[in-house]
Amino acid sequence: MPQPERTCIGCRIRDTKSALTRVVWQPELAAVSLDEKQSLPGRGAYVHLLLPCLEKGQRRVRGALRIPGTVDWRTVSEPWASLRTLAKLD
Ligand SMILES: [Zn+2]
Repeated sequence: MPQPERTCIGCRIRDTKSALTRVVWQPELAAVSLDEKQSLPGRGAYVHLLLPCLEKGQRRVRGALRIPGTVDWRTVSEPWASLRTLAKLD
């Protein structure tokens, strides 16, 4: 069976879901969560754990997840700091 594919919000290249990290906007928590099991409900976006993809993806994620403009910037910057840490492990 072919692997499902998603588009990285950083480089905009399609890749298999397993090669990408899912982030999800959870309005009830007003939080962006890393969805390591790719199973959380809510609007998700996918990004490679590569620093260039994370840089571009951070600028695009609010639009991709339709995060309201009133939401504090830390809502994105905190999970993104975690993603950068994970990227450096490679
Ligand atoms: Zn990418």
